[in-house]
Amino acid sequence: MLLKSLEISGFKSFAKKTVLEFNSPISAIVGPNGSGKSNVAEAFRFVLGEQSIKSLRGKRGEDLIFNGGKTLARLNRASVKLTFDNRSKVFPMDFDEITIERVVHRDSVNEYLLNGSQVRLKDISELLFSAHIGTSGHHIISQGEADRLLTASIKERRGMLEEALGLKTYQVKKEESERKLEKTAENISSVESLRREIAPHIRFLKKQVEKYEKAIALRTELQSLYLLYFHIEERYIAQEKARVHEERKIPEDTKKAIAFEISQIREALSKKDEHKKESDEIMDLQMKVSEVRSQKEALVRDSGKLEAEIAYLARAIREEETKSRQNDQKTILLSEVHHLKRSIDQYVEESEKTEDVGVIRSLVQKIRESIGSFIETRASSSEEYESRIAALSQEQQEKTKEKEAIEVSIAHLSSEEQQLRQKEAQIKADMDRQKDDTFEAEKKMLELMSKEQDIENRLHSLRLEEERVRMLDEEFKRDLHEAGQLIGHEVLRFREQQEGVVEREDRSVQLERRKEVERKKIRLEEIGGGNGAEIMKEYEEVTSRDQFLEKELADLGLSSESLKTLITDLEARIDSEFKEGLEKINKEFNTFFTLMFGGGHALLKLVKEEKRRSVDEEEAEESVEPEDVKEGIEIDVGLPHKKTKGLVMLSGGERALTSIALLFAISQVNPPPFIILDETDAALDEANSKKYGDMIVRLSAHSGLILITHNRETMSRAGIIYGVTMGSEGFSKLLSIQFDEAVSVAK
Ligand code: ATP
Repeated sequence: MLLKSLEISGFKSFAKKTVLEFNSPISAIVGPNGSGKSNVAEAFRFVLGEQSIKSLRGKRGEDLIFNGGKTLARLNRASVKLTFDNRSKVFPMDFDEITIERVVHRDSVNEYLLNGSQVRLKDISELLFSAHIGTSGHHIISQGEADRLLTASIKERRGMLEEALGLKTYQVKKEESERKLEKTAENISSVESLRREIAPHIRFLKKQVEKYEKAIALRTELQSLYLLYFHIEERYIAQEKARVHEERKIPEDTKKAIAFEISQIREALSKKDEHKKESDEIMDLQMKVSEVRSQKEALVRDSGKLEAEIAYLARAIREEETKSRQNDQKTILLSEVHHLKRSIDQYVEESEKTEDVGVIRSLVQKIRESIGSFIETRASSSEEYESRIAALSQEQQEKTKEKEAIEVSIAHLSSEEQQLRQKEAQIKADMDRQKDDTFEAEKKMLELMSKEQDIENRLHSLRLEEERVRMLDEEFKRDLHEAGQLIGHEVLRFREQQEGVVEREDRSVQLERRKEVERKKIRLEEIGGGNGAEIMKEYEEVTSRDQFLEKELADLGLSSESLKTLITDLEARIDSEFKEGLEKINKEFNTFFTLMFGGGHALLKLVKEEKRRSVDEEEAEESVEPEDVKEGIEIDVGLPHKKTKGLVMLSGGERALTSIALLFAISQVNPPPFIILDETDAALDEANSKKYGDMIVRLSAHSGLILITHNRETMSRAGIIYGVTMGSEGFSKLLSIQFDEAVSVAK
């Protein structure tokens, strides 16, 4: 007997710890209505992991805990413990005894314990599957569920059969694998999407890395080119410096010699400067002569002017003398006398018109004055002439003296001019004599100067060359500095460069090399690649992540494949084992059925039921999807002596018997450790109760039977009878009783 005991504590009406020992293959639980018998069956379902509180006749978890009675307070926890004998290792555990315990608290928290250690519900379920005890509870027929196997849907029925046949473990494994497969597919798609996400970044980084690698290669090329270039350039500059320095020596020496010669000639020609002095003297003399001459001419002009003035004065004197003479013999003009007479007449007339003596007197006075003035005027003229002639003569004498003085000066100047001209003629004669000697010297001097100019030109071009070399040197230093910054200080070791260095080469080769350097420099600048190391690091990180993801994907693919294979294997196994089991069950079913009904037939049929679909759906899709097909078990029964067939035609008792026959058939093929039947026999008449009792005995050969019953016949088959009572205290009590007692207790 696998099932050893059931310990109930605080569960429903069992307030106190109650232990049911199952030492006999058949145990019966009897008692009056409402005493708590069904609570025992529920205690089994509870401890086996039933999750539906409703099926345990409760609403909440706390409904399963003793709620208090007259004398006992309500409890805070309910626990049920089931003990199995595992010496036959039905449970795949290395223990001879297995205890499964479930505890529920008022806050609905559940605890599961396996041999005293807390475990998950899953662990308990897996363990039970392996002993053909599952959650479907086909082996626990509750009160009023005698025909449960008949009312179940074809799919539920198949589930129960699978469980009874011990295929649930495979089924669970299959479902688990399907879940895993689903999860794997999700993982695959999320890994794929991750890879898709990082792919553009990898592409971008790859390009950057390629650029960076190109830059590195280019830098290496540039470095070796630089080493050769600098080596040759430095050598060239040094050679050029030496050459220009050497080439300057001869012209510089020659220039010095020429300068010396020129200075000699210059000294010799200093006399020529004296000639210049002489000629300057001549010029001075000539200037003086022209000055004296112009002074002389001015004096001559003045003398002429004075002469003209003297002549004029002589003429004026003569004229005045003539006028004087004429004045002495002067006649008074008649007109003047007439004019005088008219004045006198006028005054006389006026005096005649007046008798005023004063007026007359004044008139007479006026007449007197007119005559006086007439005479006075005529008498003064000769004195004027004389004084004028005297003044003119005076002026004439002064001018004549002045003229004489000028003429003395003119004579003096003429003699001076004469002397100057003589001196000029003498100097000119000296100069002509010296001219011939200097001509030769000057000719030589010109030749030397031209030669000096040529040398100067040569030296100038050498200076230009020197400047060019200096610029080359500066450029070389600049380039070296720049190369150091671009490539690194390795370029400074250009003097050690051996490769590619030849003894002599055309300058154009080096110039071409320089162009190549420039080209490479530009390309390197274009490529850039500043933070190459960082990019390289990032690229490595991202690619290794991608590789990791790729590997992950491959692993996931592999595990997906193996899961698929596992699922297919499990399906095949379930299918074949199910069919095999079904055949065996059918055989037993028919036997039990015909035994119970004295004939007829009973058969389980594997059927496929298609889900009903609308016409539209059918048109839209021809083929039937697997999800739309329900595979299940149909029950085909035929009673003896009756034409009617099918479950619907059976009476209540017949249904109970058929159901029991099926349960027994299942249990016969794959016996569970125990079977609990809660008043399955309620609807049976006496004759059938007997047949039921016979079958129980047959069944108990393989499984422990716990029968909750009011049926006397059934009780008579039990080895142990437990009586359950509930007194006025309001909690169930258990007592082991004898058959006779049992009959009375049951009532
Ligand atoms: P019948 O023969 O009529 O089927 P039974 O012996 O199977 O009856 P049960 O249905 O097992 O009786 O027990 C029902 C009894 O258990 C009731 O009296 C009910 O009050 C009691 N009961 C159920 N839940 C609790 C609980 N949480 N606390 C206390 N008593 C409870």
